Amino acid sequence: MSLDLDRISHNFGAVAAVRGASLSAEAGEIVCLFGPSGCGKTTLLRIAAGLEPLQAGEVRLEGAVLAAPKRESPPEQRPIGFVFQDYVLFPHLTVEKNIAFGLKGVPDAKARVAGQLMAFGIEQLAKRYPHELSGGQQQRVALARAVARKPKALLLDEPFASIDVSLRRRLREELRRVLKEQKAAVLLVTHDADEALALGDRIALMREGEIIEIAAPEDLYEHPKTPDGAGLFPGSQVFSGEVRGGVFRCALGEVAAAGLKAGPAQAVLRADSLIASCDELAPFRVADVRFAGPGWRVRLEQPNGAPLWVTMSTPPLVGDGVSVVVDWSKAFVFPD
Ligand code: ATP
Repeated sequence: MSLDLDRISHNFGAVAAVRGASLSAEAGEIVCLFGPSGCGKTTLLRIAAGLEPLQAGEVRLEGAVLAAPKRESPPEQRPIGFVFQDYVLFPHLTVEKNIAFGLKGVPDAKARVAGQLMAFGIEQLAKRYPHELSGGQQQRVALARAVARKPKALLLDEPFASIDVSLRRRLREELRRVLKEQKAAVLLVTHDADEALALGDRIALMREGEIIEIAAPEDLYEHPKTPDGAGLFPGSQVFSGEVRGGVFRCALGEVAAAGLKAGPAQAVLRADSLIASCDELAPFRVADVRFAGPGWRVRLEQPNGAPLWVTMSTPPLVGDGVSVVVDWSKAFVFPD
């Protein structure tokens, strides 16, 4: 069983919002769509849901075509649940009735509603109406409603956007547990790299309408194919430089870049590959110091003015010199 998006392209007038994007989620798999604002994530999800007419490509569930150009089943006939940012709860129904909607004739409907109220921590809101809820509470009701139907596939667009960080962490664990139990194929859009890493079995990286890389977090960590993949992990930094004679050089030093053509290039360095120490003769000057327990996040200024972040165990003073040793074995170099 899988949800397949096959070579989807979509234009809004002159804007190519999605360009030849292909993506599959297997039953029980959570695929996170991650990318900068405007790269086409929501459009791709809306096409899968049937909220945006399909222009090119195909959407299939368990091999059956749900949408092809001029041959589409309407959203309500797709066995797919979705939660979008402009989620709409039924205003005239209480929370529990919203969740129960769509469960008519289901023998264990009552138990399902009770289970979802508990899973999303909204039991005490069961009798309230949507206008009596905060944005984050409404978002949890929308999630509970989508999950209660146990759809074969689920599309979630920034499902935790209005929920505070601590509750968000707890809810994403709970959501992951429920989705795994239900064996739904899930596509989840997020801006938040932490969220993509915490929830996704695989992460699809989008840029300018294209899926540029798709892999499991551990594969993105070990063998990223793009700067976006390499830079997904907390504290990663990008350094511009140049490849010449098979060697990449930048302000921080140099590393062999066999196989890369001469020209501008960038190296992505992970947080633990920079070791900093105070050194008055060093070319980097401290511009700002923030406590980020454990350790201090220190913003250095490179001679060319570009920022460079390091972590230090004792705080230097603004204006101090700092030298940086790089573990180049943890660097990933890509052509610009
Ligand atoms: P965000 O993370 O900010 O929500 P996104 O990656 O989900 O962004 P989309 O909302 O899919 O991006 O938008 C992709 C592109 O299509 C953008 O350039 C956007 O301005 C454009 N776009 C989206 N919807 C429409 C529309 N209804 N009419 C015209 N252009 C649109």
